[in-house]
Amino acid sequence: MNRKPVVVLPDSLINVIAAGEVIERPASVEKELLENSLDAGADRIVVQLQDGGRRMISVEDNGSGMSEQDALMAIERHATSKIAEQGDLNQIRTLGFRGEALPSIAAVGRFVMETWDGSAPSGTRLVMDSGKLVKVEACGRPRGTSVNLRGIFSKIPARRKFLKSRETEISWCLRAVEDLAFAYPEVHFEVHSERGVVLSFPPVAGIRERIAAVWGAESAHRLAGLHWNDGDVEITGFLSSPSETYPRRSRHQVLVNGRPVRDPSLNRAISSALANRYPPGRFPALVLSVGLPPDKVDVNVHPSKREVRIRDLQRISAALREIIGSLSFTGQHPGKAVDPSARVSGPDRGPAPVRSPSSGDLRAGDGTTAYGGAVDVGLPLKIDRRVLGQHLGTYIIVQDGEELWLIDQHAAHERVVYNRLMELRERGGGHSQKLLIPELVELSGSEVNNLLSKRKILESFGFEIEEFGGNEVRLLAVPAAVSGQNAGALLKSVAADLAEIPDLPDEIGLLISRWACKMSVTAGRSLSVAEMERLVSDLNKAQAGYACPHGRPTHAIITPEELEKLFDRR
Ligand code: ADP
Ligand code: MG
Repeated sequence: MNRKPVVVLPDSLINVIAAGEVIERPASVEKELLENSLDAGADRIVVQLQDGGRRMISVEDNGSGMSEQDALMAIERHATSKIAEQGDLNQIRTLGFRGEALPSIAAVGRFVMETWDGSAPSGTRLVMDSGKLVKVEACGRPRGTSVNLRGIFSKIPARRKFLKSRETEISWCLRAVEDLAFAYPEVHFEVHSERGVVLSFPPVAGIRERIAAVWGAESAHRLAGLHWNDGDVEITGFLSSPSETYPRRSRHQVLVNGRPVRDPSLNRAISSALANRYPPGRFPALVLSVGLPPDKVDVNVHPSKREVRIRDLQRISAALREIIGSLSFTGQHPGKAVDPSARVSGPDRGPAPVRSPSSGDLRAGDGTTAYGGAVDVGLPLKIDRRVLGQHLGTYIIVQDGEELWLIDQHAAHERVVYNRLMELRERGGGHSQKLLIPELVELSGSEVNNLLSKRKILESFGFEIEEFGGNEVRLLAVPAAVSGQNAGALLKSVAADLAEIPDLPDEIGLLISRWACKMSVTAGRSLSVAEMERLVSDLNKAQAGYACPHGRPTHAIITPEELEKLFDRR
């Protein structure tokens, strides 16, 4: 092979490569710029987005600003004012320290930075194009800094094609603000798009007030507060009760020394602390702020500083177990879903929202089954198949000719609902059940944005939603297959799923299986014989009925031979 000589890469190329690590989409530009503004002590930060940040994204702050000299240094690689020597790495109190963000951002588009530190006669404007400095000039502006990036990846098609739709990119950008907003309640954040102000978090006194701005006042009100301090470690948190949980960590905000992290080992510690109180596989809404001496945390383990390494994680795990174990939630009904969307209606809010029947409610006499089945008759059971009963509120015992069947009612119903939803979708939906009274569902700004942008897909399942303004959507209809369920809670968990899956079409099967799970009869609920017969018959007709969509078996069969073996008859 014709081998080329070894060369040191030019800076411009190095920056593009480095940008690959930290700059993935407009929201990552935004995150880095927000961090810089917060490190500069700003208490008001305004983000502007055009075409979801794909055409333009800018972040403006009223922080310390920079001198011309500093501004010119700041766009160099590995240039930072936040650390100077190795020991400083153990004492990091700022969000940034790697000195990589500005050059990386400047490498991927047309970059303009304006800044004034309040002392020089005028401010400084730097213009860069694909990492090359094009112009340095004086400019007038109030103290602080604005950074503006146009045409992200326009000269890097390989990256550009990974950008998603405008709405998806906006959702990511909103989420990035929400993430940091919990850590900085005293800072005013605002996001503007072509449509005007899309998010506004005025300064507030503390985390709970900020949670109210992000997730809605009612959600915030229901969270239990916790606090723990042993001199070294301080933990402050807010979390929802075991009756209000989510299928993913979409409302899981962990802060370590004011830095939002999604750290697998910390998440594991939190999950194990939650395990005794919360249903398996479900997560509370939670904001947990952990404060530690800076030398107990290594933040230099991940390019975008998302993960941290905590020395003595054991101690934090133990503390979490203790405080979460001793929390008491008022008004909690274990195992019974409380309607998270029920709310007090105010003036001018349209028809009063209703509390839909909870998933435990039996509906009788209308030809539907309690597990949310649509009105159809279904095949009669085979003459020699008989439901014998239910065991542990979880397993249905069926006699099928000579065989004994044990059916896992939850897995079986999951399969049935999943197939029904898939079928609905393939038929183009249309089977939708109008709610008698539309329900207002309170969500976060990024969730609202996401739901509305996926409205077509949701409609194909029979959901009908409408913009309501602020943090709310109005739910008008739900898939007929699930009309007996708690509609608002269902939409919330759908929103939680969508929040983490930008590429919906590929993941649709996975999503539906989660929704099916959410809508299914849970284990531990007693069913009438008619309901059980109906479920067994539905399962019998279901394609791939042997397993639930997650791959768990729906039933086990005990043959006469196996019975004989059990009793030493053979
Ligand atoms: P880092 O934040 O890791 O230091 P950056 O490339 O993000 O690296 O920024 C480089 C330097 O530029 C920072 O250390 C800081 O001194 C300065 N800087 C960047 N953004 C701002 C801002 N918005 N206000 C004041 N100074 C800033
Ligand atoms: Mg930075």
